[in-house]
Amino acid sequence: MHVVVVGSGFGGVKAALELSKRQIGKITLITDKSYFLHHATLYATATGKSTEESVIPLNVIFAKHPNVKIIEDTVTGLDPHRKLIASKKKDYHYDKLVLALGSTTSFFGIPGMKENAFGISTLDDVREFQDHIHEEVVHNKLDKEYFVIGGGQTGVELAGAMNEYLKSLKDLYRLKNTGSRVTIVEAQKRILPHMSRTASDIVSRRLKKQGIRILVKHKVNALEDDKIMIEGRLHPTKTAVWASGVINNPFFKTNAGYFHIADDGRVHVNPYLEALDDVYVIGDNNTVPHSGKAWPALKQATHVAKNIARLATKRTQKPFHAHSVPVGVPIDTRWGYVEWLGIYVSGQSGAVVRRWMELYGYCQIVPYRTALPIWQSHKLSDVDDNL
Ligand SMILES: Cc1cc2nc3c(=O)[nH]c(=O)nc-3n(C[C@H](O)[C@H](O)[C@H](O)COP(=O)(O)OP(=O)(O)OC[C@H]3O[C@@H](n4cnc5c(N)ncnc54)[C@H](O)[C@@H]3O)c2cc1C
Repeated sequence: MHVVVVGSGFGGVKAALELSKRQIGKITLITDKSYFLHHATLYATATGKSTEESVIPLNVIFAKHPNVKIIEDTVTGLDPHRKLIASKKKDYHYDKLVLALGSTTSFFGIPGMKENAFGISTLDDVREFQDHIHEEVVHNKLDKEYFVIGGGQTGVELAGAMNEYLKSLKDLYRLKNTGSRVTIVEAQKRILPHMSRTASDIVSRRLKKQGIRILVKHKVNALEDDKIMIEGRLHPTKTAVWASGVINNPFFKTNAGYFHIADDGRVHVNPYLEALDDVYVIGDNNTVPHSGKAWPALKQATHVAKNIARLATKRTQKPFHAHSVPVGVPIDTRWGYVEWLGIYVSGQSGAVVRRWMELYGYCQIVPYRTALPIWQSHKLSDVDDNL
């Protein structure tokens, strides 16, 4: 049996590892990147911490899995009748296909946003943001106000980390213009709209205590190189980070004829996570409850690998059951918030639990001995090195 897995994120890497462990015939991992991107720590890498904790090369992950063939390519189309997945370089034949292509960013057509906003969803985004901050520091020209657009988990953790980072830069390099502040702009009526009311109240209090301004029920109208328009008012800034607008990978829209696509652009799957015969769609790409987070992608990947192994030995597949997973938001080095099933922990304990969640995540991708130094690399390092 030849299993083709597409995507080297949480879903794709985990599926390939689990298939490899089960010695499922031939496994090919096709991906447009030579590395695994650990999104949950990109906010930290963007704000002076190490790149090592966010980027793990695939040859490290698959060092002990020679039965997984890695191909760097971008998939573009599907022919389920001939069992072919088309890509920029060539077409690949599969017996079973696992698609884990992740999400992408939409700027909702806001004028100037795509051109002028920084982002933290990709490695290139993060490098561009780091360069910009370093440039400001070198020229001793910090902005008076830094804007984070989107008060979801990503925006909130970035705002907290940015605030802490700017303070450390000011102290370290004795910068002038120390009155700069970070502002979160959120269109909905509270930050962390996908978490509990308690989460948004407690986290808001902490952010405000740290000097971060929160604008809820505020929409950004436009962004230029040196100013942002919010609810019709202009604010000078050279730094606005877009932390909003997550949409499904465009592959599914391009190949919409083969998929049953929901209103939000994600793909409907059957209880075995198949979108069509022999084609599994996992992680951010499907409409399964709780998809859109790393842990559900890992769980779905393991489940699919087990089911493919069952089919290979003439057994029947088992349905996937979705469960809620803990959600953690780090606000600064010493303070975090984690909630799960109506229970929460905040403060220093919250920061510790969230850090342990990260270690658990790494251990799903690499062995503990490799995971530990990656996890421990979470410290300010790039600041000095890059200046
Ligand atoms: C900034 C940010 C912060 C986040 N923080 C958290 C967090 O704290 N906790 C949490 O649980 N979740 C978090 N998430 C969400 C989490 O990262 C995703 O839910 C998870 O990565 C989903 O796994 P996946 O395998 O579906 O997709 P991904 O991990 O995104 O992987 C998709 C893979 O597909 C590849 N790919 C895409 N298109 C193609 C193509 N056409 N051809 C070939 N390869 C392709 C990509 O390069 C990538 O390797 C965050 C996401 C972002 C963007």
